[in-house]
Amino acid sequence: KLVSKKWKAKPTSVDLGDGVFIKDGEMAIITGPCSIESEEQIRKVVNHCVENGITMMRGGVFKPRTSPYAFRGMGIDGLKLWHSIASEAGVKIVTEVMQTSQIEEMYPYVDIYQVGARNSQNFNLLDELGKVDKAVMIKRGISGTIEELLQSAEYVFSGGNEKLILCERGIRTYERASRNTLDLNAIPILKAKSHLPVIVDPSHGIGIRAYVPQMALAGVMAGADGIIYESHEVPEKAYSDGQQTLDFAQSARLAAWIREIFAKR
Ligand code: PEP
Ligand code: MN
Repeated sequence: KLVSKKWKAKPTSVDLGDGVFIKDGEMAIITGPCSIESEEQIRKVVNHCVENGITMMRGGVFKPRTSPYAFRGMGIDGLKLWHSIASEAGVKIVTEVMQTSQIEEMYPYVDIYQVGARNSQNFNLLDELGKVDKAVMIKRGISGTIEELLQSAEYVFSGGNEKLILCERGIRTYERASRNTLDLNAIPILKAKSHLPVIVDPSHGIGIRAYVPQMALAGVMAGADGIIYESHEVPEKAYSDGQQTLDFAQSARLAAWIREIFAKR
């Protein structure tokens, strides 16, 4: 496979411009709400990022929701608004693309296209992202194996897009005490098998706010090249995933811990 270390030994460095990289040897921190909700919310999160030296912000404008009646996101207008505020502040945008028809309209406003867990094996979407000159982060499927994640990455990489990042976000197991089971094992295994950077999402991985920081730090120790986690000014009022979302004080503390642990790794 082209994404395997056997084919390319040198770790892939994903350059987002303006000195922002996701690569082996650095620790990327990406935070933001589950959903982009309003201009006011965008400004607050962007400020939070800037104040804490966080150069990448996450947030969904097209949301894959289990219930069709749940908030589905602000759509392309939300992304345009977010981009105007974030780019001004020098903050990069990580957001989910749900279908091929969105790729082009999103292109000018996104820095990393996120492929969500539910679309991890949407091979038409992966094929199209293979043709794009912009970074892609693929999340592991809800019940996806490590091998399946690598095969999904292979679709994009073999299509010609080598700006690729893998994301462990927990898998569905028999355990119901946590939302998902964060597979820490996947991190050293993916790092050993592939030259692509690996990011850990402890928010979806455990789904319980109080335990997000320790799982994030466990991810750092397991060898991750970055952590992506959800934050919001008032998590209890978030439109989605509030139960696993950190407030700004918790997020600032976690970002500092991530850097501290990474420096000692
Ligand atoms: C998200 O990042 O908010 C999200 C929907 O993640 P996942 O696809 O991992 O469930
Ligand atoms: Mn979420």
